[in-house]
Amino acid sequence: MRVLYFKLREFFFLGGLSMLMMGCGLHQSITDKDDHRKAIFSFVFDDLNATDTTVKNIFDEYNFKPSFALVSKKLNAETAKLYKSYYEEGISILSHSITHPKMRDSTLDVAMINREFQYSKETIEKYGIEVTGFVTPNSYLHPQYLKLAEEYYEYSFTNNNDNKFDKSVPKHSLARYGIEANISSVDHNIETIVSRIDSAIAEKELLVFYGHQMPSTYKDDEGNSRVNTEDLRNILDYLKAKSDNNECKVLSADAAVAEYYN
Ligand SMILES: [Zn+2]
Repeated sequence: MRVLYFKLREFFFLGGLSMLMMGCGLHQSITDKDDHRKAIFSFVFDDLNATDTTVKNIFDEYNFKPSFALVSKKLNAETAKLYKSYYEEGISILSHSITHPKMRDSTLDVAMINREFQYSKETIEKYGIEVTGFVTPNSYLHPQYLKLAEEYYEYSFTNNNDNKFDKSVPKHSLARYGIEANISSVDHNIETIVSRIDSAIAEKELLVFYGHQMPSTYKDDEGNSRVNTEDLRNILDYLKAKSDNNECKVLSADAAVAEYYN
């Protein structure tokens, strides 16, 4: 009888608890936890180009948010206003150094690297834009400078990830996947990119795409732009269908990294 009493008490206690959980948002966090097991995609456009507004407008059509990695010496009061307004919409602004030096050599002046990390972030933040991510100029950061990157940033694209895109990759060793390098230079088909998206979904990866100007200044076999606005829309069309189908999320970089590593 006493056992039955405890069983009943437990039953009502747990039942009440789960109803409470649904009511007060705990249930919500369980649902979110499931989402962490999904692939997350993000897009970063580098260097601070006038065509960033074209990119932004195209992403708006999909209700997605891109990210922009700025070379801070190109930033002035006028351009800063634009990126500040993007930032206020939830678009991540990353640092891409001050002067875009190569950082792949082990023999570089450490003080120079430190300056590039520190002042690029400070310059952007002076305009009221918080910066937590770094993109290495020319992709690869020699691992001996990783500790410095960690001093200033919460995450960095440094291409030290052994070609992995899962949670085993430290947040300062991230790599990205180039749109320009992976679109067909013959007929602009996006098959390679589509199959990379599919495998990222299957492996639940964090896959961050990158590009530059839109249309791209890289050329296809005919001498035309390697990636044009129609190509970008084709990629986003595919991802939109996948995210509408709850197979993945498409987030701006800060949110993508935070959520993936949460
Ligand atoms: Zn660059």
